[in-house]
Amino acid sequence: MSSSIRAEKLRIKGTVQGVGFRPFVFVLAKNEGLTGTVLNDGRGVEAVLEGSSEALERFRTRLLKELPPLASIESVEAEDVPVEGRQDFVILESRSNSVSTVIPADAAVCEACLKELSDKNNRRYRYPFINCTHCGPRYTITAHLPYDRPQTSMKAFPMCPDCLQEYKNPLDRRFHAQPNACDVCGPHLELKDKKGNLVLCEDEIAELLRQIQEGKIAAVKGLGGFHLVCDAGNAAAVSELRQRKHRPFKPFAVMALNDLSASRFVRISEKASKELHS
Ligand SMILES: [Zn+2]
Ligand SMILES: [Zn+2]
Repeated sequence: MSSSIRAEKLRIKGTVQGVGFRPFVFVLAKNEGLTGTVLNDGRGVEAVLEGSSEALERFRTRLLKELPPLASIESVEAEDVPVEGRQDFVILESRSNSVSTVIPADAAVCEACLKELSDKNNRRYRYPFINCTHCGPRYTITAHLPYDRPQTSMKAFPMCPDCLQEYKNPLDRRFHAQPNACDVCGPHLELKDKKGNLVLCEDEIAELLRQIQEGKIAAVKGLGGFHLVCDAGNAAAVSELRQRKHRPFKPFAVMALNDLSASRFVRISEKASKELHS
């Protein structure tokens, strides 16, 4: 039986860091009864797998077929390595060598996170910086590769015990999600007036909405910069924004909640709708 046991090292290149790739490999390997290791390095992901030839083959097929939503593979190089009787499958610390790999773009909040966001019983109910391995900031918070929390702007926010538990659990959607945070340990919203003084209020979003409805112009700090907003239906506010931006004629972008609310103003084809949701 032992003659059919093999071990191989896979070098995987592409968008494979910060997208839940190591946990994906971990679950897949466990699933196929393989032992070995997986780690991030400056070139991508390296996995060493040991098990039957059939399991190894199934692993490779599933690796390409069941990729996490934000991941994409450019190449997989396989090389046979000695069988060592590896007992378990483990995720190893990142190895930092210099050659760079691809950091995925920031991704819009996923369905699962949206659900938690509006669930009163969820500990991230209305927590604006909610994210998981399938969504959230990546590129804009990364200072250095490999993509690991100490190399991102999230290093200033040590995880609370609850977040840390998710981060360490291979079966959790937030396993190794570098920007993992919650209301207890993560960044918070602040509303400031034009002099930079903190506006004290119960609910920053509700207060900002109230002020926008009053005709005020706001600068919303997002992941990649500031976003100027005002009520598009308020001619005075729009004209004030045009003056301040020195943009007398060029159209501004209009924000809408979804294609349904946008369809009040524009016609949206099925194809356009698909693009908007992509
Ligand atoms: Zn998510
Ligand atoms: Zn937390």
